[in-house]
Amino acid sequence: MAHAIQHDIVIIGGGGAGLRAAIAVAQIDQGLSVALVSKVYPMRSHTVAAEGGAAAVVRDDDSLDKHAYDTISGSDWMADQDAVEQFVAEAPQELIQLEHWGCPWSREPDGHVAVRPFGGMAIERTWFAADKTGFHMLHTLYQTSLKYDGITFYDEWFATKLLVDDGRCQGVAAIELRSGQVRPITARAVILCTGGAGRIFPFTTNGAIKTGDGMALAYRVGVPLKDMEFVQYHPTGLPGTGILITEAARSEGGILVNRHGERYLKNYQLGEPLDVHDPRHPQKLTMELGPRDRLSQAFIHEMAKGNTIESPFGHVVSLDIRHLSERTINQKLPFVRELATNYAGIDPVKEPIPVRPVVHYMMGGVHTDGHGATPLPGLFAAGECACVSINGANRLGSNSLTETLVYGARAGRAAARFAREHGPLDAGALEAQAADEQRRVTRQYLAAEKGTERIAAIRGELWDAMEQGAGIYRTESGLRKVSETLDQLHERYQRISIDDRSNCFNTELVAVLELQSMLDVAGAVVHSGLQRRESRGSHQRTDFPKRDDARYLKHSLAYRSEAGPPRIEYLQVTVTRWPPAERVYGAEPAEPGSAHGNGR
Ligand SMILES: Cc1cc2nc3c(=O)[nH]c(=O)nc-3n(C[C@H](O)[C@H](O)[C@H](O)COP(=O)(O)OP(=O)(O)OC[C@H]3O[C@@H](n4cnc5c(N)ncnc54)[C@H](O)[C@@H]3O)c2cc1C
Repeated sequence: MAHAIQHDIVIIGGGGAGLRAAIAVAQIDQGLSVALVSKVYPMRSHTVAAEGGAAAVVRDDDSLDKHAYDTISGSDWMADQDAVEQFVAEAPQELIQLEHWGCPWSREPDGHVAVRPFGGMAIERTWFAADKTGFHMLHTLYQTSLKYDGITFYDEWFATKLLVDDGRCQGVAAIELRSGQVRPITARAVILCTGGAGRIFPFTTNGAIKTGDGMALAYRVGVPLKDMEFVQYHPTGLPGTGILITEAARSEGGILVNRHGERYLKNYQLGEPLDVHDPRHPQKLTMELGPRDRLSQAFIHEMAKGNTIESPFGHVVSLDIRHLSERTINQKLPFVRELATNYAGIDPVKEPIPVRPVVHYMMGGVHTDGHGATPLPGLFAAGECACVSINGANRLGSNSLTETLVYGARAGRAAARFAREHGPLDAGALEAQAADEQRRVTRQYLAAEKGTERIAAIRGELWDAMEQGAGIYRTESGLRKVSETLDQLHERYQRISIDDRSNCFNTELVAVLELQSMLDVAGAVVHSGLQRRESRGSHQRTDFPKRDDARYLKHSLAYRSEAGPPRIEYLQVTVTRWPPAERVYGAEPAEPGSAHGNGR
């Protein structure tokens, strides 16, 4: 039986949230030892791919209330307003802290931090480092984390099970991929920072590692997943690969046109089009910067009207940035030019970029409070895998990088406090659980008889089903069909077989474990979606086209059941100062406390 590796705190995930949490623990108490477990080297976490920027109030004409209001109305009133107020208040200090650690924020000529507009934000508040913001943020966090001796990195370790004993989460069983051994890493507090699950859909901006493992780990030990029906599509991914063309392309003045060359968004109540040649542009919210859910839905309507362009990879519209000039494109959007050239074969200085909506972000995740605490004592979560919730039914672009910092730090501090208040563990019991996990992995995959089912087939059918029944528009019958497919896929998964039986960097074993997470997470998405019989934000039911606050101004909580569909419960949304109102874009923001009567 493998001996336990002992630490005070285990963090699973080395992206923005995981690294920020590790630094927060070290800042509170350098005596606490932290294990940072990641299935890839931390710098390969998806945070590195973020392009556009991170939101926080910095300009004199902006305010915390304005940031809060944009976030809340963008969320279609599903965000918890106490959490949003906490988030916007702590956001500026987190971005300044990052600057002090070395993050090279882009600047105005006079030295002020430069900010760009972003979808659904009524004022410019998105800090950026050219169009490689996530890369620079992650570098800054990683190099800072290396300064602390108390943080030990377990790179290329794959977490497969949370260790729960005596009603408390006390560690994790993880496969050291180099040796194939399952090892128990014990701790008095565990923080999940495992990122999102966009890979449960076929077309996504998400890296291949975003398979929802951490959500599934929590779900399997009885922790509910909150608001899982809310899946964000980004309106501008490249066809075929799903590679993201950042919203910054539109915030710098890019426009979306259909096959007739028409700026079609003007027909979808997203504000007035601005003259892209107006020198004041883009100082105001344009319709291209409407929220992502609305823009993605507009694409589907254009497709139904026959206004989209057929490409070898399905229907697309055009994102035109040619009028911005080669100089601006090279200065502000170099990565957009690089991606379009390499992956779509067109130079955006000369031709429009073909784009389509692609799955981008999970608003839902592991249910936590404002300190990242889950209902299971000792278990915390932060970043995209968690749901606090500040994103509600639709996240505003550039809020989530900041969220990884604010809530990574909060969860780190809360876990440190929890660890200091709780006594030693029964390592023997935890080692026995990890030994059971080693036996399960061996029995189910490495020493099993050859089964009849293959990873790629099940994954492909999962993708088809999710795209068809749980995409941008949903219906009762469509969702039921996906749910039936998922039942069959779960059953077929029991007969799955892998060819590679080796112990050293067995990537097929990783893929089969990830597929199991994907099936669990997809189930939570579909069943939460089935039971929410209204349309709100990213969850659009054509059979229930209206928002229904009387019945559904509530968070969904999906609890896994051993057999059969998850049990869905509901939790009130916290409303502090902004009573639910209609989402309208292109108007001035509302004053707090008066939202009800102002027609928004
Ligand atoms: C292409 C792209 C562009 C984006 N652009 C922006 C933007 O401009 N602004 C913005 O605010 N947001 C943006 N987002 C969203 C934002 O980047 C993410 O939500 C955020 O970075 C997630 O950070 P995280 O720390 O929660 O997770 P991640 O960065 O995804 O890290 C997850 C970590 O968990 C580890 N992990 C997962 N499973 C396991 C396991 N089983 N065992 C061990 N380790 C595991 C991984 O190794 C990884 O280290 C973008 C997202 C994408 C995909």
